[in-house]
Amino acid sequence: MGEVRLSNFSWVRARDYFSTNDIVLLPVGSTEQHGPQNPLGTDHLIAYELALEAGRRTGVAVLPPVPYGVSVHHSAFPGTVWVREEVFKEYVRDIVLSLKKHGVKKVVVVNGHGGNLNALLSLSRELRGEGVLTVVFQWWTLPKLSDLFTREELGHAAAAETSLNLFLNGKSVDMSSVVDEKPRKLPTDGLAYFPEYTDDRTKTGVFGVATTACKGRGERVFEIASRALVETIEALRRS
Ligand SMILES: [Zn+2]
Repeated sequence: MGEVRLSNFSWVRARDYFSTNDIVLLPVGSTEQHGPQNPLGTDHLIAYELALEAGRRTGVAVLPPVPYGVSVHHSAFPGTVWVREEVFKEYVRDIVLSLKKHGVKKVVVVNGHGGNLNALLSLSRELRGEGVLTVVFQWWTLPKLSDLFTREELGHAAAAETSLNLFLNGKSVDMSSVVDEKPRKLPTDGLAYFPEYTDDRTKTGVFGVATTACKGRGERVFEIASRALVETIEALRRS
């Protein structure tokens, strides 16, 4: 397929795209710690690669990724950069509303970071009232992944995420520093939501089992997630 990155379109090409398409992909993520082995950009890099793959398979344009998200809970770890939830929500709202001016009616937000979800869900309900149908896609909650990974391997910076990085961006992963860490319990676990920070539960930033990561598993996750994203786009096109 040809170029799908909106950043590489001219305005003339964008005009032509929007004259026949009312849908785009918007990758969002974070810049935050992902254990000692993974790059800080993990969440937005994975979201962008998934969006590009599904964009090429469907001909849907992909916006530049939003690299900062709601990550204050990782703030104890050097290099983590975050924005407040309300700032993130309003930033994404303005992106979607500027697309609406160009005729976009459907947006698939490819979210790479769980901390962004509350803001995105509340925003997408509000945007629906504004005439833009915005759905939020996340790769790590896809039911099919439980055939490939245990629960402990699906945690933050654990084997699933590390495998994806090994497949997509192997040079940025340092497997010589990979560790497993069982998250500590907090006093209200199972009773009430605690305003937790990552360092309450782990000292390395890894939640669970990461040492079983490999490139081949990453390739399988990427294919499962790409297909699911393509299905999401097709379902939305039909709706
Ligand atoms: Zn992540």
